[in-house]
Amino acid sequence: MVRAVLYILLAIIVITLLRSVIGVIGKAAAALFEPDPNSPPGGGGPRTSGELKRDPVCGTYVSTATSVKKTIDGRVLHFCSPACSEKYKK
Ligand SMILES: [Zn+2]
Repeated sequence: MVRAVLYILLAIIVITLLRSVIGVIGKAAAALFEPDPNSPPGGGGPRTSGELKRDPVCGTYVSTATSVKKTIDGRVLHFCSPACSEKYKK
């Protein structure tokens, strides 16, 4: 009788552990395979973290985390390099 109770307790503990492990794996998988709506078709742009914006000068997709930013008429533009940022002025 005591063995049966222990077996049930063990089963509950194992199920709880499995559920938490599956939950963690599921979250990690969701983060890995989450589609990025800002990536260009074909995945041509740089694959970095952060939102991707198109450089209006050369057309390259740049991450907002690494881009050269410039605010023109209240809009933030993202450039791949200071050279492109300079070109946009002219
Ligand atoms: Zn550029």
